[in-house]
Amino acid sequence: MSFVLHRPDVENLMGDDLRNMQLSKLRRQLVRVYETSPYYRDKFNSAGVDPHRFKNWADYSTYPFFDKDEERISQQRSRDELDHPFGMHVTCDIREINRVSASSGTTGLPTYVGYTARDRAVSEDNFARMAARTGLVRGDRVMFAGVMSMWIVGIPAVDALLNLGFGVIPIGGLAKTERLAQTAMDTRPDLLMCTPSYGLHLIKSVPEKTRWHTRDFGISKLYVFGEPGGSIPEIRDQLSDGFGGAEIYDMSGGTGCNNPLGISCEENSGIHLFANDNSLMEILDADLQPMPLENGVEGEVAFTGLVKECQPLIRFRDKDIIRVYTDPCPCGRPGPRIEFRGRIDDMLLVKGVNVFPNAVRDVVARSSDLVSGDIQILRYSTSAVVEAPVEVQVRLKKDVADSCRIGLKEDLETKIQNALRFRARVTLVEAEKFTPEYGATGKAKLVKTIIPSDDA
Ligand SMILES: [Zn+2]
Repeated sequence: MSFVLHRPDVENLMGDDLRNMQLSKLRRQLVRVYETSPYYRDKFNSAGVDPHRFKNWADYSTYPFFDKDEERISQQRSRDELDHPFGMHVTCDIREINRVSASSGTTGLPTYVGYTARDRAVSEDNFARMAARTGLVRGDRVMFAGVMSMWIVGIPAVDALLNLGFGVIPIGGLAKTERLAQTAMDTRPDLLMCTPSYGLHLIKSVPEKTRWHTRDFGISKLYVFGEPGGSIPEIRDQLSDGFGGAEIYDMSGGTGCNNPLGISCEENSGIHLFANDNSLMEILDADLQPMPLENGVEGEVAFTGLVKECQPLIRFRDKDIIRVYTDPCPCGRPGPRIEFRGRIDDMLLVKGVNVFPNAVRDVVARSSDLVSGDIQILRYSTSAVVEAPVEVQVRLKKDVADSCRIGLKEDLETKIQNALRFRARVTLVEAEKFTPEYGATGKAKLVKTIIPSDDA
């Protein structure tokens, strides 16, 4: 597999060369946020850290973290006190903000992300690295089928695509299937950008609603984003088959950085990070201490935007568990690779083993053709600690004959035990009796908490 690097000077940096470059940019960023934001100054002073004396990585491990709650509170304060929503931690003149995105929080109020012109330029350079790695060249046609308006991956992606000279077809994520299919047949995009679930939806709905199939579009590559599906082999295979053998690339970013930061490769061996000169990833152990980035290390991730001008987030905890791979990838592309393992808030602890509900779902989904892929884990307290065997309700497909079910329950239990190292008790549920529940952001709730009432 041959590939091109857009910025070989920085993408090939490894080891001490990379770490030293990151350290000097980090020092500059820490001093800058301290000097420009009273909020960061107070925060660092309270934590007893002084960027002017910052020297090494051990110093950084004493710096305070940032998280979603703090971001929300900071933005509420700036609404109240400064009459803008960008947060007390904003580090530029707000009149320098050149583009605004927002994410809809689960509490209802949006969280705003601002970009200066320079922030846009850094993101564009990262996007160019991603494009080069996946063989996209100027003039290739790109259909963008994500929600555009305010979404973090919406207009920012389109903005970069336009500036880099691609033939941009901004159909958006809300177009009707018929319109998308007609546009794809007329304009013949080389690349489609969408969420994995929207891609799967198209594979199903295009043949139902039009005289075409998604294979007829002639799309050779998909960038998928917004959900972890692009790194799950079954979902990649379905997407690739549905689009006539297209390469599926999973793109990724980190909150508070100049996204995108990474993209997977044909080897399906994790997401290569290509922006390590402008974003810093730390992997934390259970005590929130950074671990060396060695092959196979797994823990909570924290990102720092090394050069972000507007609202850089210092040590932002996204509450994701990530595994890192530093061994060479067979594809030959440089950069450490990361694999999403699950969300901290969803994590259960069974006899000392971390259990991610999405991993249980993936094992169940790939174990049998008779199951729908919907699961629900039952627990009887709000604690993350769950007793073994863990009760897992598995939804069957419609009209599965009794004779086919023999041994299915035991088979699923064994596969869960082998893959995830905990004991499950599986209950098979008829398709029509299983009601998937969804959270505020539309994601399926995989854990159901049943609290027995006192008089029960
Ligand atoms: Zn690779």
